Amino acid sequence: MSRRAESATDLVARARDGESRAIARLISLIEDESPRLREVTAALAPHTGRAHVVGLTGAPGVGKSTSTNALVAALRADGRRVGVLAVDPSSPFSGGALLGDRIRMGEHALDEGVYIRSMAARGHLGGLSWSTPQAVRVLDAAGFDVVLVETVGVGQSEVEVAGLADTTVVLLAPGLGDGIQAAKAGILEIGDVYVVNKADRDGAAQVARDLRSALALAEREEGAWRRPVLKTVAQTGDGVEAVVTALGEHHTWSIESGELGRRRERRARAEIEAIAVAALRSRWADLGGHTELATLAAAVAAGEIDPYAAADRLIHS
Ligand code: GDP
Repeated sequence: MSRRAESATDLVARARDGESRAIARLISLIEDESPRLREVTAALAPHTGRAHVVGLTGAPGVGKSTSTNALVAALRADGRRVGVLAVDPSSPFSGGALLGDRIRMGEHALDEGVYIRSMAARGHLGGLSWSTPQAVRVLDAAGFDVVLVETVGVGQSEVEVAGLADTTVVLLAPGLGDGIQAAKAGILEIGDVYVVNKADRDGAAQVARDLRSALALAEREEGAWRRPVLKTVAQTGDGVEAVVTALGEHHTWSIESGELGRRRERRARAEIEAIAVAALRSRWADLGGHTELATLAAAVAAGEIDPYAAADRLIHS
């Protein structure tokens, strides 16, 4: 097929027809920070805003990928189409053709209502801040009812996944440190739905109790969403339907309370900021060695002007 036939508009139309190769190609263009990014995001924009974006986070080993699979199965049983982005901020690997993705697809490999893709989310901007929300847009535009974003809970990424999701699920499990560890990681602030997985193991009830009391102490104002603590055995699917129900209830509450709109605006604001900052950086870098920045740096180092005045000049250059 010629390159010409692969215009962003074509790719988006094909993705909307459910063609997984087109979806994969669009996400790759985003990951590779292709010069056609602008064209791609413009073509996606009119088709976005419909999907329920669910973030799933938790420490390594709590059962995120097992839970994702169980959630996909439960959502499919409900007739919903599900897109999954498995984001590992520490991994250099990504790409739809990777063996890992095929293994992860497992029982869903032949199901056209499911698309699973892992992403390294590296980009030169780092973190989830930039490429993940664009990939979410691809799956949203492709017509998935639910877009699940699964991230490894390493520090900052938990907070970031909460920033890009309409509903954030925090997963815990017994034997991986107690509830207090959760508080340390800022987990009490970011979850909308809490799930204690590995409920078949000793200690799960205790983790759930500790978490419930910590959440009760941190409970917010009247009318706020009451964050449920659910128990699952992801391997067997036990309790997973209740998680799907809680996701739906939170989504409905978010829509009715106006929280969804506020979160999405906050997300858009962060996206615009990240893009604008990157654009400025590359403008300064693109000019090479003989830049306004280099001149100003020399002047600041020589004590001729102060760094604030230099920054003002740089911004207006
Ligand atoms: P992730 O690192 O958070 O993605 O965790 P995985 O989904 O890879 O699960 C880590 C390990 O826990 C695997 O060996 C799973 O088989 C196991 N596991 C996942 N869910 C459960 C569960 O509900 N009960 C038990 N006993 N083990 C589970």
